[in-house]
Amino acid sequence: MKLVTTKKELDKIIEEEHAGLHIGLVPTMGNLHLGHLSLAEASLAQTDKTIVTIFVNPKQFGENEDFGKYPRTLERDLKLLKKLEGSENITVFAPQNEKEIYPDQFNTTIEVKGLDHALCGLHRPGHFKGVTTVVYQLFKITKADTAFFGQKDYQQFRIIEKMVEDLDLPIKLSMQPIIREASGLAMSSRNQYMSEEQKSEAALINKTLYDLKEIFLKDRLKANAVREKILFEEPRWQYLEILDAHNLKDFSDKTTKVIVAGAFTMGDTRLIDNILFSL
Ligand code: AMP
Repeated sequence: MKLVTTKKELDKIIEEEHAGLHIGLVPTMGNLHLGHLSLAEASLAQTDKTIVTIFVNPKQFGENEDFGKYPRTLERDLKLLKKLEGSENITVFAPQNEKEIYPDQFNTTIEVKGLDHALCGLHRPGHFKGVTTVVYQLFKITKADTAFFGQKDYQQFRIIEKMVEDLDLPIKLSMQPIIREASGLAMSSRNQYMSEEQKSEAALINKTLYDLKEIFLKDRLKANAVREKILFEEPRWQYLEILDAHNLKDFSDKTTKVIVAGAFTMGDTRLIDNILFSL
């Protein structure tokens, strides 16, 4: 496995070792857990060479968010990646200077309009612009053929999908399932902000989503009423939605795929989760 921290070093590897091969990209902000590793495994299985990027992207954090305290654990991340079968096919690109991604005078923002009217888009203004801008740069820098993302950030995936479609970018996207703790809690780099007690309480997030799905399948109107009651009674839910998974609008008779998604604040930690199902 190789580690590079500059675009120049990465360019050299791309030129000398990637020609004619199928290149996979796994963009992350580091502090890797089994969720990230599952993306790397999918890429190793489906492509010839994998580039895992580790970059805590300042553009996607709001002013009052956790950019400063976001866990940066490069040594540990490298050890975890190295243990994967086929890790000799991984190059880790972990820029230590923001200028590797955003050179001096960089003044462009990629914004996908629509799809940000719901879920995290409503609660994290500017977040998805930061995501699409960095992802665009990473697509361009890595020259990858297929990029792997987690369903955990489903809205992010849909927005990136729309960017790729609108800009006709030469890259395929692959969405991988959510990896969870035994309790059902979706794995997240932010879980470590929580106490053990908070973590076990946080299992209610996934359970609530599944309960809503079960009710929805029997009685859609009732599911909406239950959802509203939960939101009213438990202010720690930032949102709890049942939407058409394609357009992220209210479900209708035409809906074929549904997302039940929620964001929950446990102490200072904001957690998200979702489940998808076809009708
Ligand atoms: P992050 O480092 O949080 O920006 O996440 C990098 C990638 O890992 C994104 O595509 C996430 O959707 C994905 N990811 C994060 N948590 C999980 C999880 N529990 N299961 C699967 N993928 C995940």
